[in-house]
Amino acid sequence: MTITVKALQKKSPDSPFEVVEIERRDPRADDVVIDIKAAGICHSDIHTIRNEWGQAHFPLTVGHEIAGVVSAVGSAVTKFKVGDRVGVGCLVNSCGECEQCRAGNEQDCLNGAVGTYDSKDVDGTITQGGYSQKVVVNERFVCTIPDALDFDVAAPLLCAGITTYSPLARWNVKPGDKVAIVGLGGLGHMGVQIAAARGAEVTVLSRSLKKAEAAAELGAHRTLATSEDGFFRKYKGEFDFILSTISAPYSLRDYLRLLKPHGIMSVVGLPPEEMSLPLGSLIGGGKVLTGSNIGGIRETQEMLDFCAEHGLGAVIEKIGVDQVDEAYDRVVAGDVKFRFVIDTATFE
Ligand SMILES: [Zn+2]
Ligand SMILES: [Zn+2]
Repeated sequence: MTITVKALQKKSPDSPFEVVEIERRDPRADDVVIDIKAAGICHSDIHTIRNEWGQAHFPLTVGHEIAGVVSAVGSAVTKFKVGDRVGVGCLVNSCGECEQCRAGNEQDCLNGAVGTYDSKDVDGTITQGGYSQKVVVNERFVCTIPDALDFDVAAPLLCAGITTYSPLARWNVKPGDKVAIVGLGGLGHMGVQIAAARGAEVTVLSRSLKKAEAAAELGAHRTLATSEDGFFRKYKGEFDFILSTISAPYSLRDYLRLLKPHGIMSVVGLPPEEMSLPLGSLIGGGKVLTGSNIGGIRETQEMLDFCAEHGLGAVIEKIGVDQVDEAYDRVVAGDVKFRFVIDTATFE
């Protein structure tokens, strides 16, 4: 037995999205069935379904920023009941037993975590994402969405929120720290809010000052244009912590110069090309260059609670299921403030 639901699907990288019916598995003992209310559009969805990150499995439904309501639970489910407000991010399963899973780092499962879409599930099927009416997920990978967060502003937190929350928490960004958020897109706009809520003095670094006003509204102290002549000399040694969300190649050496001695730069944007780095940029001043990839489930819950407590949420533009192709083009063109969210009521 399966559950038939409507979903947005592409048959190939170049075909448009179509509304089709797909099958979700009947809930196993430890599964939760979620009626999806909102599904965020992440740039990773676009890279995947346009085959820019290797061969995706078609036909495919993407989406890993999912918010909704529990509509059924398996017989062994203990964390959730029908009616609960919940979210699912980039992961839907992992072994649960390895060193990393036991430490709460399911994203680094040594036996391979199962992604929310285009990933081989434990039963051998390919997972299908959240641009859909319902999803069935193991309860270990479901988080509670606090009442203070609306579904549409909460959905993007499940990827963009945790991706920026995790490095800021891991490196203990604290009140008074001078923090630079590089790039003000879907990730950056959450990074600014979270760093500011942690009490940091936040600077947005962007090519131009076009987004300065939006940055200030999100809690940034100032915006600086990196295209300014002599920028990297002028602001040498300025920051305690830099979070880079840039996904095109850039000079790591330039940005490391902006750190104070012993400062930390964490990268979450992933340019496709290899980038080189003279090691002197790290050795001089004993600087740290590190990366971060989403976060574990416990930390994702902590992030949702933090956002609710501080009144944070994604800044979104809500769209219907017939507007997703157009939204993709606008995301690629950088023309979105700051996240598109699909209103799944428009499947009806
Ligand atoms: Zn994502
Ligand atoms: Zn594991």
